[in-house]
Amino acid sequence: MTIQSPIKGSARARRAHRTLVTGGAGFIGSHLCDALLQRGDQVICLDNLFSGSIHNVRPLVNHPNFTFVEGDVREPLAIDADIDRIYNLACPASPRHYQRDPIGTMRTCVVGTMNVLELARQKSSRVLQASTSEIYGDPEIHPQPESYFGNVNPIGPRACYDEGKRAAETLMFDYFRLHGLEVKVARIFNTYGPRMLENDGRVVSNFIVQALRGEPVTVYGNGTQTRSFCFVDDLIRGLELLMESPASVTGPCNLGNPHEVTIEEIAREVLTHTKSTSPLCFEPLPKDDPKRRKPVIETALRKLGWQPRVALKDGLQATIAYFALRTATPEFAMVP
Ligand code: NAD
Ligand code: UDP
Repeated sequence: MTIQSPIKGSARARRAHRTLVTGGAGFIGSHLCDALLQRGDQVICLDNLFSGSIHNVRPLVNHPNFTFVEGDVREPLAIDADIDRIYNLACPASPRHYQRDPIGTMRTCVVGTMNVLELARQKSSRVLQASTSEIYGDPEIHPQPESYFGNVNPIGPRACYDEGKRAAETLMFDYFRLHGLEVKVARIFNTYGPRMLENDGRVVSNFIVQALRGEPVTVYGNGTQTRSFCFVDDLIRGLELLMESPASVTGPCNLGNPHEVTIEEIAREVLTHTKSTSPLCFEPLPKDDPKRRKPVIETALRKLGWQPRVALKDGLQATIAYFALRTATPEFAMVP
C-alpha cells in the first residue's frame, strides 16, 4: 500500500515530530493522536477499523496536521514522507475481538510488526510497540516485574494475542540488535477510559454499560480474580515519556496502575458511582483467564519519572460520564 501523506518539509518545532500511529482509531490510539497533535506533531493515523471506530477520530479529521488512512499493517507499508516516530498500536485488545479472528490477530502481531519495523528501518524512525501485561500470562510471580518471563498457555484461546505480542517483542529486540533500530516496548496493563466501545467486551465498559441500563452486571467466575486498572490519560503520558526517553532506555517498560482490585470490587464501585440497582450475575470464567495481575512500575518511575496520577474513582466517574452521554446517542459506534 502506498500512502500519500500531507507531511512535507521538516518538523516545525524542536519537539514536534512526524508521527505514524497504527491503530490510531482505537481506544488508546485516538487519545494518543489527540495528545500528539496538541504537542504540535503531524500525525498519520493508520487503522483498518477492525475494533476501532472512525467516530473516535472524527473531531480530528479537519485538523491541518492530521491524516486518517484506512489501511492494514499486515500489508507492506509505504509512506512518501519522512517519519520520525511510529507508535505501533494496531491490534484488537479485547479478548472478544482478538478471538473473533485469531489467525488474523497473530498475523497483525507478527506480520504487522515486521512491516512496521521495515518501514522504521527505511525511514530511520524510532518505534514504540504497544505490548501488554498479557505476555506474563497467568503469572506465577506477583506483582509482575519486567524481568518475569511469564506463564502463557501457547495453545489456548488467548494465545493468538499473548503469543503474538510476545513474538512482536522478539522482533523489536532483534531489529534493535541486528539493525540498530531505536525501539521502545511498553508493557501496558489494563487501561480504561472514554472511547472504549460499548460492545467492546472488556470489563470496565461492560460493567458501566450494564449498570447504566439497569441490566445484570456480568461477573465472570467468582469475581476474586484481580486486575490493576490505569486511566487512559495516565497511560498516554507514559507512552509519550517512554517514546521520548534517551536511547539508553532499551528494555521493556511496564505501564500500569499498581492499585489492584478484584473484579467483584470493580463491579461494586461501578454500581456505587452509577447509583444503579443492577444485580451482580455470576457467569463462567473464560478459559485461561489470569487470576492476578499487578505491575511493578519501578522502571517507569526510575527511568521516566512516571507514575499514575488518576485515582480509580475519578477515572471511573469520567468514564461513566462518557458512557452516559454516548448510550443516549443513537449513532453510537458499534463494531460487529
Ligand atoms: P482497540 O481495539 O480499541 O484499538 C486497536 C486498534 O487497532 C483498532 O482501532 C483496530 O481497528 C486497529 N487494528 C487492529 N488490527 C489492525 C490491523 N491489522 N491493521 C491496522 N489497524 C488494526 O484497543 P486499545 O485498547 O486501544 O489497544 C491499543 C493497543 O494497546 C493494542 O495494541 C493493545 O494490544 C495494546 N494494549 C491495550 C491494553 C488495554 O487495556 N487497553 C492493554 C495492553 C495492551
Ligand atoms: N470480566 C468479567 N465480566 C465481564 C468482562 C470481563 O468478569 O463482563 C472479567 C474477565 O474474566 C477478567 C477481567 O474481568 O477476569 C478483565 O477482563 P478484560 O477482558 O477486561 O481484560 P483481560 O482479561 O484481558 O485482562
